[in-house]
Amino acid sequence: MIRQRIIITGRVQGVGFRPAVYRIAEQLGLTGFVYNDTMGVTIELQGDEGKIGEFLVHLQEGEDKPPLAQIKTCKSFDIDLVSGCDQFVIKTSDAEGTSLSQVTADLVVCQNCLGEMKEKTDFRYWYPFINCTNCGPRYSIVKSIPYDRPNTTMSVFEMCDRCKAEYTDVTDRRFHAQPVACPKCGPKIWLTNRKGQQLETQSNEVIRETAKLLLAGKIVAIKGIGGFHLVVNALDDQAVKRLRQRKRRDHKPFAMMCDSVEKIRRYAKVSELARQLLQSPERPIVLLPKKEICSIAQDVAHGVNTFAFMLCYAPLHFLLFAGGIDVLVMTSGNISDEPLICNNDKALEKLGDVADAFLMHDREIYRQVDDSILHILDDEPVLLRRSRGYVPTPIITEKISDVDIFAAGSDLKNTFCFVKHNQLICSEYIGDLENADVYHHYINSIEHLRGLFEVEPKAVICDLNPGYLSTQHALSMPCIKTFQVQHHWAHIASVLAEYGLDEPVIGLGVDGTGYGTDGAIWGCECLIASAEKFERFAHLSYYRLAGADKASKEAIRPILGLLMKTYGDNFSLDKFGWLLEPIAPDLDKLSIIVQQIDKKINTVDTSSMGRVFDAVAAMAGLGSYNNFEAQLPMALEASIKTGIEEHYEFSFNEIAGEPLELDLRKMFEQIIDDIQRRVDCGVIAARFHNCIAEALLETAQKAKEKSGLSTVALSGGVFCNRYLANRLIKLLKENHFRVLFNRRVPSNDGGISLGQAEIAAKLMQ
Ligand SMILES: [Zn+2]
Ligand SMILES: [Zn+2]
Repeated sequence: MIRQRIIITGRVQGVGFRPAVYRIAEQLGLTGFVYNDTMGVTIELQGDEGKIGEFLVHLQEGEDKPPLAQIKTCKSFDIDLVSGCDQFVIKTSDAEGTSLSQVTADLVVCQNCLGEMKEKTDFRYWYPFINCTNCGPRYSIVKSIPYDRPNTTMSVFEMCDRCKAEYTDVTDRRFHAQPVACPKCGPKIWLTNRKGQQLETQSNEVIRETAKLLLAGKIVAIKGIGGFHLVVNALDDQAVKRLRQRKRRDHKPFAMMCDSVEKIRRYAKVSELARQLLQSPERPIVLLPKKEICSIAQDVAHGVNTFAFMLCYAPLHFLLFAGGIDVLVMTSGNISDEPLICNNDKALEKLGDVADAFLMHDREIYRQVDDSILHILDDEPVLLRRSRGYVPTPIITEKISDVDIFAAGSDLKNTFCFVKHNQLICSEYIGDLENADVYHHYINSIEHLRGLFEVEPKAVICDLNPGYLSTQHALSMPCIKTFQVQHHWAHIASVLAEYGLDEPVIGLGVDGTGYGTDGAIWGCECLIASAEKFERFAHLSYYRLAGADKASKEAIRPILGLLMKTYGDNFSLDKFGWLLEPIAPDLDKLSIIVQQIDKKINTVDTSSMGRVFDAVAAMAGLGSYNNFEAQLPMALEASIKTGIEEHYEFSFNEIAGEPLELDLRKMFEQIIDDIQRRVDCGVIAARFHNCIAEALLETAQKAKEKSGLSTVALSGGVFCNRYLANRLIKLLKENHFRVLFNRRVPSNDGGISLGQAEIAAKLMQ
């Protein structure tokens, strides 16, 4: 008789791992316990040495291994026997009694459940809410802990005898699967018209009828796992056009869904890594290069070179595609920038003018969770939006925080984050807080996530920007300690958090806007930074931006600021009329902005790189207005002609006692020459991107000379630009830098809260 402690890491939580361990231990007559710890799962086994060996083989290779589990490491060592240990139990806390959240992320329906759903003799045949311990909704249905059925939105459904028998049978795949249900006892589905009147009474016909409507070009609002989607046939030009008009989302690319990778391959290029990501249990949206010629409706994704695809993940999706559908637009069910809708009545109220029909169900979604979005940078998966499938899984750090911390995030693309022990618990994507409904959602979400993880913040951290609602909320919280930190420092710290790096780096924080320590709007920053402190080594030379709120939408504003900076007294509207007129035909408006900039009326000094991209895109003829964030920069990236290596010129200004200034005046002169000579827009776009990559490389080299550091951390929304990020990473590596960048949280403002959390944890040490 021996006793062993076995420590397992990998994807082992929320995938039915502990019940599987329990079953194998019981079968082999072993005693002890299993619990989820902060790194994975810890097991203690007592019994015959041979049986423990057998246990490990079963767990790693046997049929009993939960299908979604992935064991990364498995270490076992002998410990002292425990007397009186006569049974095997599943524990909910670790050895020190730290209570750990048992709430995991929502996962794709598993193959076993799918098999049963398609089996005519199964009592859950064609049942769209089939699930088991290995799959199904979790985070989206949990109201509070402990994660038991009464604390989920499944509490209103009383289990029938058959479901209950499975739920209570430890040898069953549905042992303690909280959302377990069947057609007799569980949630139901129905179809209504836009007024909420039921269309089809036969419940087994509802999904087939929905598929028919979609194939006939109708827009259907479909309630899924994390909220409603607005759905149309992606091959139907007219239907997609109608959805754009009705959703008042004129330009933003729509996400699409297929039921197999083979189908996606008809429309987009799917690399091996992309295939793995599409098929992962988190089932994110993956951005894939478009195929030149394909039958997807024009209006699905204008002005970008990628399609956003995901595979079916809810049982309902699989049933829908069984109705003969090829590819669907599946865009979030909301109006412009409002929160995702997850409630039936609200859907009818808000989307009644958008959708022709509603496919609804009565399993309440407690937390709305958007689809997550990934793309691939430097052959690595990188999250652009971290929500369904990933949240609330904590990011684990080596460092242990003695106090709980709340990080409020940024006002744009908000997420927030808690620090507890060695866990960084990031929220799902919340949205832009300036929308009142989104702000309300933010406040509620903070309390919900805090409750699920039993966090008691003793410190709060937020942005330096006094105008941010997140800052104001954080400052109003009763806490012992409050920190306000600079935006780009938080960006760089988010990279340090991901890599667990406790040393200074050269940080390149490049984005549209972040409040600076000097009151200017920063946006292209080279910081020598650790989680403890930062020094501003260099930045883009300031230019003046008129009309604060409009400046990120109307490209003419940064254009005028940048031209006036470039040409100084040689600038006049007459001289540049040929360039400006196509972008902003209203001459009076132009001269007002020029005067504003000249006299510093309602202007800010900025080093924003995002606005430089807006300006170049508009001058190159790609539009004049960002209808959604980064529309112009995305169009510029999509227009790049491949195979061009040359770049525009740039310089640096050295001013004693001040940070180094990156000067792009030469670049603007050359761009304007190229435009005048009618050089192809794709060539201009390539030379411009190459110039920015070279300029950032040289900035990093200068920082290296001064600091002796050779690790560069990249963060900020501009690095969502694949061409720029890939090129800069390559250049830096060729020049012997170690390059770190965001992968597990977005490099845009969705990653700010993680960086803030990292800084606060360090400062509280
Ligand atoms: Zn399942
Ligand atoms: Zn049942």
